[in-house]
Amino acid sequence: MITFDLITIFPKAFDSYLAESIIKRAQQKKLIKIKIHNLRDYTMDKHKKVDDRPYGGGPGMILMVESISKALRALKSKIKNQKSKIRIIMLTPAGKKFTQREVERLAKYNQLILLCGRYEGFDARVDKLVDEKISIGDYVLSGGELPAMVVVEAVARQIPGVVGHKDALSEETFAKGLDYVEYPQYTRPEKFKVKSQKSKVKIMEVPKVLLSGNHKEIKKWRERQSKKRK
Ligand code: SAM
Repeated sequence: MITFDLITIFPKAFDSYLAESIIKRAQQKKLIKIKIHNLRDYTMDKHKKVDDRPYGGGPGMILMVESISKALRALKSKIKNQKSKIRIIMLTPAGKKFTQREVERLAKYNQLILLCGRYEGFDARVDKLVDEKISIGDYVLSGGELPAMVVVEAVARQIPGVVGHKDALSEETFAKGLDYVEYPQYTRPEKFKVKSQKSKVKIMEVPKVLLSGNHKEIKKWRERQSKKRK
C-alpha cells in the first residue's frame, strides 16, 4: 500500500480522473490511498491568501512559503509509523526529469507528498522543505496538478495488483531499459480496408506470424520488432 498526499489550490481538478478505471479500482482494493489537501486550509489569514507578488518585481504571483510549511507540518504530524518511508516532492519544470527508473524508485516509498505549484511557482525557500524536485518534461504547464497525476498513475502501476495481468509491466516500453520500446500489437480484424486520399483501397493486414500459433516464432518476431523500433 502506498499513500499519495496531493497539496493543491485546485482540489477539484482531480475528481473525475481519480474516480475512473485502474486508479479507481486500486483505491477500492486498498492498494493505494490518495488524499487531496487544499493549500488554502493552511493559510495564515482569514482571506485564505496563498500567493503574493515577487520581491524585486516581475510578472505573476508566487506561492508563499508559510502555508506550504504549515500543510507539510500537519501531514507529518499525522504519520503514525515513524519507520514509514516518506518523500516530499515538489512538481516543477526545473526538477529532475521523471523517467521509468524514477517511477520504480518512488514506488519503494510508503508515502509520497506531492506539492502542486501554480502561477509563477514557489517561493525559493520551499526548496528547503522538500526532499526532491520532479519535472514531467521540458515544457511548462499552468499547474502541478497534471504532473502530480502523472506521478500518481505511473507509480501506482508498479504496486502489485494494480495492473491486471502480471506480465503486463515486464513487457512494456522501458521495462528492460530506457531504450526498449514494446513490440507492435494487433487485435481484430485480421484485414482492415482503408481508402487513401486518392480513393485507392488499401488493405492493412496483421503480420502472419502472429496468427500462426507458433509461440516460439512469435516471441522471436516480437524481440526483433521491439529492437527495430528503438
Ligand atoms: N515560473 C516557473 C518556471 O519558469 O519554472 C513555472 C511555473 S508553472 C507556470 C506553475 C506550476 O506548474 C509549477 O510551479 C509546477 O508545479 C507546475 N509545472 C509546470 N510545468 C511542469 C513540469 N513540466 N513538470 C512539473 N511541474 C510543472
